[in-house]
Amino acid sequence: MATAGKVIKCKAAVAWEPNKPVVIEEIEVAPPQANEVRIKIVATSVCHTDLYHLFESMHKDGFPTVLGHEGAGIVESVGPGVTEFQPGDKVIPLFLSQCKECHLCKNPRTNQCEVAWTRINQAIMAGVESRFTCKGKRVLQFMGTSTFSEYTVINQMAVAKIDPAAPLDKVCLLGCGICTGYGAAVNTAKVEPGSTCAVFGLGAVGLAAVMGCKAAGAKRIIAVDVNPDKFEKAKVFGATDFVNPKDHDKPIHEVLTKMTNGGVDYSLECVGNVQVMRSALESSAQGWGVSVIVGWTDLHDIVIRPAHLISGRTWKGSMFGGFKSKDGVSKMVKDYLDKKLKVDEFISQNMTLDQANDAIELMKNCKCIRAVMSVSPP
Ligand code: NAD
Ligand code: ZN
Repeated sequence: MATAGKVIKCKAAVAWEPNKPVVIEEIEVAPPQANEVRIKIVATSVCHTDLYHLFESMHKDGFPTVLGHEGAGIVESVGPGVTEFQPGDKVIPLFLSQCKECHLCKNPRTNQCEVAWTRINQAIMAGVESRFTCKGKRVLQFMGTSTFSEYTVINQMAVAKIDPAAPLDKVCLLGCGICTGYGAAVNTAKVEPGSTCAVFGLGAVGLAAVMGCKAAGAKRIIAVDVNPDKFEKAKVFGATDFVNPKDHDKPIHEVLTKMTNGGVDYSLECVGNVQVMRSALESSAQGWGVSVIVGWTDLHDIVIRPAHLISGRTWKGSMFGGFKSKDGVSKMVKDYLDKKLKVDEFISQNMTLDQANDAIELMKNCKCIRAVMSVSPP
């Protein structure tokens, strides 16, 4: 490889400041250090968590940064000590690592990895280290991944090797949203055949949760969103009932409790709004209902009545759908290639990295499910 061991100058969408458009800049990407992999990003998409950082949490120490954590690419070069990857391998960057050695990785009950939280500063949602500079300034790597760049450098414990047959402009979506929602239903809620489910929020995460409920054999899947344009897509993934909270003057948990004669067996919050998290919990059945928080926010606390839990509900949270990240993503790519999993149906627009601000605006205005941007030629 002509570029191995050298700094690569390439294009990236840099977020210099919160709440401002990103700027397409030339950045320098340093060669990979020990245990790191430099990846040519071929395709990436925008997830609501990118918007959360840019427009909602707006932590000033989290900038300048290169956003993007849902991408796929090809290994360009590897640093010392890397044995698992070779130049040319198709890979998906992971915002949650799987070191396979810590006490969490060794425990089958969780997908958390101790190393992840030493590598990523959760307050600023960025890697502690960065291999990026631009105009003489250090630029942070959002979630350790930064896929809105032609090249990025990631520790090998946060990279999944995938089937060489996988189309990168499709499977990039498995880097976050689809695995998150699908796994929240299948792995975290552990939806059972014949059950009734409710999914709040029908972005890619919620639609993937609908798909997970259906795959697990749910008999009734109630799709809840304030934007009725989302219902048609939800039907494609298996939703059976559609509820727009704006059509009702009663609290939505009362509507769902009435519709289901006592509440749903499983509810999944895929919005990132603490009021909706409470509604989802209260919509689950007294006695056995399970409610899972998937939407992300670190800005507000939630208020609930203890009686809602004491009366037999279980409240859980799910990160990256409970999948051990490296193993889970490789397997989900395989399932897609084996036609066991829908992915193409989530893509609402195809764009290029130069249109990053348009893709971000589409997401902000709720006009897309996933806009996939082509970044580098494959
Ligand atoms: P999105 O913006 O595409 O979708 C959110 C949906 O929620 C939209 O369709 C919107 O209309 C709907 N909505 C908004 N307010 C609502 C309300 N009051 N009631 C019902 N629906 C409402 O977002 P996305 O990319 O699908 O992500 C969803 C959430 O999941 C975000 O909070 C994101 O940060 C989070 N997320 C979490 C993880 C994780 O590991 N837990 C991973 C990825 C994303
Ligand atoms: Zn995401």
